[in-house]
Amino acid sequence: MKKECLHYLEHCMLCPRKCGINRLNGMRGYCMIGKNVKVSAYNIHFGEEPPISGVSGSGTIFFAGCNLRCVFCQNYPISQLNNGNEISICNLSDIMIELQDRGAHNINFVTPTHVIPQIISAISGAREKGLNIPIVYNSGGYESVESLKLLEGMVDIYMPDIKYSDDNMAEKYSGAPGYWNIAKEAVKEMYRQVGTLKIQNGIAERGLLIRHLVLPDDIAGSKKVFEFLCEHISAKTYVSIMAQYHPANKSSLYPEIDRKIDAEEYEKVIEYADGLGLCNGWRQDF
Ligand code: SF4
Repeated sequence: MKKECLHYLEHCMLCPRKCGINRLNGMRGYCMIGKNVKVSAYNIHFGEEPPISGVSGSGTIFFAGCNLRCVFCQNYPISQLNNGNEISICNLSDIMIELQDRGAHNINFVTPTHVIPQIISAISGAREKGLNIPIVYNSGGYESVESLKLLEGMVDIYMPDIKYSDDNMAEKYSGAPGYWNIAKEAVKEMYRQVGTLKIQNGIAERGLLIRHLVLPDDIAGSKKVFEFLCEHISAKTYVSIMAQYHPANKSSLYPEIDRKIDAEEYEKVIEYADGLGLCNGWRQDF
């Protein structure tokens, strides 16, 4: 059944920024994107978690614009300088079909929070054209529950970051007031929709996969993130703990994050997750 939600752009409250502007008239809010999606790149990608990339790769589609402003963002030319090409919803459906034809295990929307209505229309169109692989929603975790509810039945795999468990840190480094409670509620809603990740023959089919990037000086508040997952989601939640942080974008303006993490701080985070019994997922090699 075709689902249309584009009218939500008319008074945009799609994400916690609640800009309230009319994107259908060409206005742009915090995320910098109006009516049309902007795609910076799309390709078959092999660098995701094993059951997302599989053997044939994940069909990633990178959207320009973002509702976060992470000072250390590694994709800032896309997310903050807004580099990309505006395309129609029909073109977006065609890209999804092309990626499927090229062998992708899934369609992986990267930073889709600000274009939820457009991707809903594009998924509907692509399904009518024969798309039959899972949809991955790969986001920063700064989401509105109401908007996530629009995606129920459309998204198969939610793959959000939980970036911080401390609002002061979230505001300072990502310009995201109230991030911790917002991300917790978003993750609960995602889990309600799709449950624990199901992997069949090495390929993810449906469920929740949390990403957590360890930051220098425990700025991410990793322990509280894991405690939340154990207590309010499930100790069986798949968690991808990442050590790949490196200074980028405006990190040099913040001496405390202008360095990579060290082995000891990473090991402590991993030990804590293991100690809580978070047994499913991946730990990036240091
Ligand atoms: S999606 Fe964009 S315009 Fe809409 S509320 Fe969020 S930041 Fe503002």
